[in-house]
Amino acid sequence: MFELRLGDDIDDFCIKCKRITNHVICSLMDGKAAKVRCRSCYSEHDYRNEQAPPTKKELKKAAEAAAAASQADPPVAD
Ligand SMILES: [Zn+2]
Repeated sequence: MFELRLGDDIDDFCIKCKRITNHVICSLMDGKAAKVRCRSCYSEHDYRNEQAPPTKKELKKAAEAAAAASQADPPVAD
């Protein structure tokens, strides 16, 4: 394991750039990145462990699937 330090570069998902970009560690918690700043747009945010947050489309799809499932018993798929 590498020991992270303030100012280190780290990959993370930037919500503004909508992709994984280089980030600089702004704050550490328990030896892990807590806050990072995007090297491309300089926006600061919590470290997301390189995970993209669900998009509105994905949230809508999940809501629709949940609604459809609660409406009626779906036909059994073979
Ligand atoms: Zn960015």
